[in-house]
Amino acid sequence: MSQQKILIIPGDGIGAEVTEWGKQALQAIGEIFGHRFTFDYALLGHAAIEATGSPLPEETLAKARESAAILFGAIGHPKYDNDPSAKVRPEQGLLGLRKALGLYCNIRPIQLFDELIGASSLKPEVLRGADILFFRELTGDVYFGQPRGRTEDGLTAYDTMIYSKYEVERIACKAFEAARLRRKKVHSVDKANVLDSSRLWRETVNEVAKDYPDVALHHMFIDTAAMALIKDPRQFDVVLTGNLFGDILTDEASQIAGSMGMLASASIGDSTGFYEPIHGSAPDIAGKGIANPMASILSAGMLLSYAFGLHAEAAAIQKAVALTLKQGWRTGDIADGNTPADRILGTAEIGKKIVENIIQVTQAVAA
Ligand code: NAD
Repeated sequence: MSQQKILIIPGDGIGAEVTEWGKQALQAIGEIFGHRFTFDYALLGHAAIEATGSPLPEETLAKARESAAILFGAIGHPKYDNDPSAKVRPEQGLLGLRKALGLYCNIRPIQLFDELIGASSLKPEVLRGADILFFRELTGDVYFGQPRGRTEDGLTAYDTMIYSKYEVERIACKAFEAARLRRKKVHSVDKANVLDSSRLWRETVNEVAKDYPDVALHHMFIDTAAMALIKDPRQFDVVLTGNLFGDILTDEASQIAGSMGMLASASIGDSTGFYEPIHGSAPDIAGKGIANPMASILSAGMLLSYAFGLHAEAAAIQKAVALTLKQGWRTGDIADGNTPADRILGTAEIGKKIVENIIQVTQAVAA
C-alpha cells in the first residue's frame, strides 16, 4: 500500500490519553504488515478554543481534508457543560467538522467480549450472543435543523427536527448493504406515530427496502426500541436510525458491551472518514491515567477496515483486544468484583499489553 496520511485529533480530556494507544496500534500494524502510515496532529474542541479562539480552526479543516483518515479522541469541557449560554463551544468543532466532511453515516458495532459478560449491568442470559451494528444518521435531524434559538424574552426555546428524502435514502442503502453481509435483518427506528420527519423516514426506508428483498425490514418506535434493546438485545442485527434517536440508543447499548470505554465507531460519507470512540472527554477521570483505551484501539481497527480495506489487519486488532481480556487484564471501568487488584491496569499499561498482543496474534497467524 502506498503511503497513507492519518490525522490524529486528540481533542479534550481523556481524548489525548486514549488516542495515543489507537495510534500505537496503527503503528504496530504498519510495521508488522509493511504499510506506510504517516501521522499528523490537529486541534479541535476546547483545546482548539484555548489555542486559537475557534473550536474548529481552518488549519484543522485543511489537514482533515487532505488526510486519508482521521483518528479522533473526544471533545468537551465542564466549563461549557455548566454554562449553556457560552456562544463558542467545543461541540461546535465536532459537529462542524462532521458537516464539512459530509460524514452522514455513523457506524457503531455493539459487541460483547465474552470475558466482559460480568461487567454489564444486564443479566448474562439476556446478553450472551448480542451483536448489533448501528447505522446512525449524523449530519441532519434536530442537531442541525433551522430555525433554532430562543424568543427575545428568553422564555421559549426551539429546535427543528428535519429530514430530507435523500438523507434517509443514502444511509438506508448503507444499512441494507451491511445487513446483507450479516444476519439479513434491519430494524428502522423512528417516531412515525407522532413526527412528520419520522413519517418521511419510514416511507423512504420502505422504498429503499424494495431493492433488498433478501433483507427483512422491521420498523420500531424509538420508545419501544429503547425498551427492547435491554429486554432482548439479541433480536437486533442492523439498527438504522436518525441522529437524535441514534445518539441515545447507542449510549444505552454501550451497557451491553459493559462500558463506554469499549465502543468504537466510524463516521463515513463523502470524503475523509472519522474514527472515534463513542465516549466523551470524561473530565471525571481525565489526567488520572486510568481511561480505557480499547475503544480508541478498536476505532483504529475500524479505520483500517473502512478507510483502507485492510480487513486482516483490523481483525488482528480485534483479536489482540480479545486476547488481552482473556489474559485477565482490565481497566477500572470493566473490572468487576471478581477482578484481582493486580489485574487492573492504567491506560498506558493496558495499551502496551494490547500492542504486544497485536504482535503475538499476527505471529500466531503467520506461524
Ligand atoms: P463521557 O462519555 O465523557 O463519560 C461518561 C462516563 O463514562 C464517565 O463516568 C466517564 O468516566 C466514563 N468513561 C467514558 N469513557 C471512558 C473510558 N475510555 N474509560 C473509562 N471510563 C470512561 O460522557 P459525559 O460525562 O456525559 O460527557 C463529558 C464531556 O464529553 C461533555 O463535555 C460532553 O459534551 C462530551 N462528549 C463528547 C463526545 C464526543 O467527543 N464524541 C461524546 C459524548 C460526550
